[in-house]
Amino acid sequence: MDEFDCAVIGAGVVGLAVARALALAGREVIVLEAEGAIGTGTSSRNSEVIHAGIYYPQGSLKARLCVEGKEALYAYAAERGVPHRRCGKLIVATSEAQVGQLEAIVAKGRANGVDDLVMLARDEARTLEPALECLAAVHSPSTGIVDSHALMLSLQGDLENAGGVVALKSAVRHAECTPQGIVLHTEDGTVLRCASVVNAAGLSAPGLARGFEGLPPETVPGAWFAKGNYFTLAGRAPFGRLIYPVPEAAGLGVHLTLDLGGQAKFGPDVQWVESADDLVVDARRGDAFYAEVRRYWPALPDGALIPGYAGIRPKISGPGEAARDFVIDGPARHGVPGLVNLFGIESPGLTSSLAIGRHVVELLAQ
Ligand SMILES: Cc1cc2nc3c(=O)[nH]c(=O)nc-3n(C[C@H](O)[C@H](O)[C@H](O)COP(=O)(O)OP(=O)(O)OC[C@H]3O[C@@H](n4cnc5c(N)ncnc54)[C@H](O)[C@@H]3O)c2cc1C
Repeated sequence: MDEFDCAVIGAGVVGLAVARALALAGREVIVLEAEGAIGTGTSSRNSEVIHAGIYYPQGSLKARLCVEGKEALYAYAAERGVPHRRCGKLIVATSEAQVGQLEAIVAKGRANGVDDLVMLARDEARTLEPALECLAAVHSPSTGIVDSHALMLSLQGDLENAGGVVALKSAVRHAECTPQGIVLHTEDGTVLRCASVVNAAGLSAPGLARGFEGLPPETVPGAWFAKGNYFTLAGRAPFGRLIYPVPEAAGLGVHLTLDLGGQAKFGPDVQWVESADDLVVDARRGDAFYAEVRRYWPALPDGALIPGYAGIRPKISGPGEAARDFVIDGPARHGVPGLVNLFGIESPGLTSSLAIGRHVVELLAQ
């Protein structure tokens, strides 16, 4: 049996940020990743938006870690040359009922420490974005976009410079939580005893944790999968900022985001699926996209939406249930020394990744 100080399970943006933070704190770190490359899970199937931290309940981990993570991410990306752009976004109301909701969104943002939000009348919004149709809007200047792969490569570089390693094709199958440490068993038969283990396995995190002997099962939530489909726009993007409708139940509504090359995409929608591998975009879902997008961009031409890609939100509450906060459970919660489980790290997980890393280091130091 091999011995290691810390193992992080999963080399997505969150696992890599946690591993980097642990290595910079002086811990010996190995990242165990099931696939043959880093970042092939949800971390490469999202909107790549640096969220401001507006929507989440005050005091929640999502609110706190998003606002802290946003600042940390802008500073890190600027320092390391990770491509990013503080392009801003507009949240648009297209009905009278939604105009009232905009005020609530601004109030929620302010409560979370997002104090740069500005209410715009229709004409002010259209001065910024002439192609836009709306009754009113909120401008969020601190929202931006980031190249998530460049970010992950940079995090991996920091980890390795601090002496950490990433072991690819090293799927963890199960674990035993013993008084002498946490013993991990990988698919290829490797057995590793670690003082600390961070379960950052994304969509698989709850299923994996259910196989941890010695972890109280009532501390592991259920897992649901909410697929988000994207359609890309053929032709030039009509907007310079991100455009979001007022949020819906399980997602943020079919919004327009831009990548750093200026390509526009619409999505993600919300489609509850049975399997975390269900990643094919059904072209027929495009019909609903046309209707949604034309509420704020009536000039969307017929035939302009092309099926793009899909990502799956690692939900820990099911359809119709209230959205849950990030669950980041350390020993104080589940009683297993050295173990941290990360469950339900959906959006804004990319934005929050550096702050989650700091938070996990603190949990393990307690
Ligand atoms: C549609 C969509 C849009 C989003 N948009 C945004 C956005 O714009 N901004 C934002 O901030 N956030 C966004 N998010 C959220 C963000 O993408 C995630 O929070 C983040 O990528 C989660 O990273 P992770 O490292 O936890 O998970 P993942 O990237 O899924 O990484 C988990 C890793 O664990 C590995 N793994 C799984 N099981 C095992 C095992 N048994 N052994 C070893 N390795 C294992 C996987 O192979 C994978 O590499 C979005 C999410 C979705 C689904």
